[in-house]
Amino acid sequence: MDKNVEVFMDEIIRKNPGEKEFHQAVQEVVESLMPFIEKNPKYKKAKILERIAEPERVIMFRVPWLDDNGEIQINRGYRVQMNSAIGPYKGGLRLHPSVNLSILKFLAFEQVFKNSLTSLPIGGGKGGSNFDPKGKTDTEVMKFCQSFMTELFKHIGPDTDVPAGDIGVGGREIGYLFGQYKRLANEFTGILTGKSLNWGGSLIRPEATGYGCVYFAEEMLKTRKESFKDKICTVSGSGNVAQYTTEKLNQYGAKVVTLSDSSGMIYDPEGIDDKKLAYVMDLKNIKRGRIKEYAEEYNVDYYPDKRPWEIECDLAFPSATQNEINKKEAQKLIDNGVMGVAEGANMPTEADGVETFLDAKILYGPGKAANAGGVATSALEMTQNSQRLSWTREEVDKKLQWIMQNIHQSCVKYGKEGDFINYVSGANIAGFVKVADAMLDHGVV
Ligand code: NDP
Repeated sequence: MDKNVEVFMDEIIRKNPGEKEFHQAVQEVVESLMPFIEKNPKYKKAKILERIAEPERVIMFRVPWLDDNGEIQINRGYRVQMNSAIGPYKGGLRLHPSVNLSILKFLAFEQVFKNSLTSLPIGGGKGGSNFDPKGKTDTEVMKFCQSFMTELFKHIGPDTDVPAGDIGVGGREIGYLFGQYKRLANEFTGILTGKSLNWGGSLIRPEATGYGCVYFAEEMLKTRKESFKDKICTVSGSGNVAQYTTEKLNQYGAKVVTLSDSSGMIYDPEGIDDKKLAYVMDLKNIKRGRIKEYAEEYNVDYYPDKRPWEIECDLAFPSATQNEINKKEAQKLIDNGVMGVAEGANMPTEADGVETFLDAKILYGPGKAANAGGVATSALEMTQNSQRLSWTREEVDKKLQWIMQNIHQSCVKYGKEGDFINYVSGANIAGFVKVADAMLDHGVV
């Protein structure tokens, strides 16, 4: 490891003990940025890197609620307000039992660069709770959301911080959170994105992360004069991002052969066509069932506790969670001839897996570039809310495509290494420059 990176990381680890996901995210970014910063001493002198790795504010709070048996439950809520140099904090809320400060700081840190890459005026943040929505009734989810928002509402606002969905937070949760905010603040303003269409939501927002990821992959494929036609794709997860990644891949003539959840994966060599995808959407979004049921419905193989990376494919779309591809799995994908990996999830590949992809010089689109379509469309929702009007599906989709093409160009600009495009350093440097320059302009704050 470069000496300067080592010194920097020692200090990060000392200041943030035990936060391994946060260390991992910072290290990846700092490794790309250090040579750039050495060449641009203005950033070094102003200690931009040191400041950017320190959240502007972290809010942690108690979330008490009564379950259906009348028993008191206590969860912990968080909002990490990482950086507001280029706009109000923006980033999702995650509800999952694994949520802790390290995971939310890594996500908030990544979000700063991602949001900058979109070219839209949004800062970076992330929040959530260790609440597990699985197995809870609608009433319990509502009570939790109301209690969570009762504290969070003091810290957010349309020009301050605008949260959205993430793992465990979809339309149902955004509705309950919004209802409670409106009641407390006595205001109907766009303080959340991912809202339903009839009360301020944007067309294409539910689809945006998955569609955007496929649009980004399309741009990567074009650099090698390739297309999606007849490509075999593996997708992990079966939530929002996985579903709309599959939908768009089907539209583009590719064949998706896997989906998964935290219990296991299904392998359908015939392909998950639109009819089967409709079944998955109903299973996951309405019935809130397990992906295993797909295997029973369509008579295909189900692999408990397995992830899709051993299945032969041309393109892989990790769309579940962080660190879901280790070095061995990355190598397996390469050995099986994978041409590209586009990350719908945030940091799904472990650090040495990323190295494996870069060494093999495949098309590797890291999450902060490939999945930025979600937050970009959230920013478009904010614009529509401010103007109090709604754009058509075609208008939003066109803007999303344009944004993903633009992000791809920025990655190429900063990531070209001879014939190879290093999308990791390209995304990190391109995302950094805009935020860093704004921080220089604002003085020591
Ligand atoms: P959902 O909650 O809709 O779906 C998450 C999926 O991943 C589910 O299938 C879930 O399975 C699975 N999963 C969650 N945790 C784990 C785990 N620890 N191990 C294995 N599988 C797991 O979330 P999204 O689709 O919204 O988010 C997926 C990823 O995409 C996340 O990394 C998120 O940060 C990222 N992302 C999401 C954006 C958005 O707009 N929604 C924007 C940008 C990035 P199960 O049902 O068993 O929990």
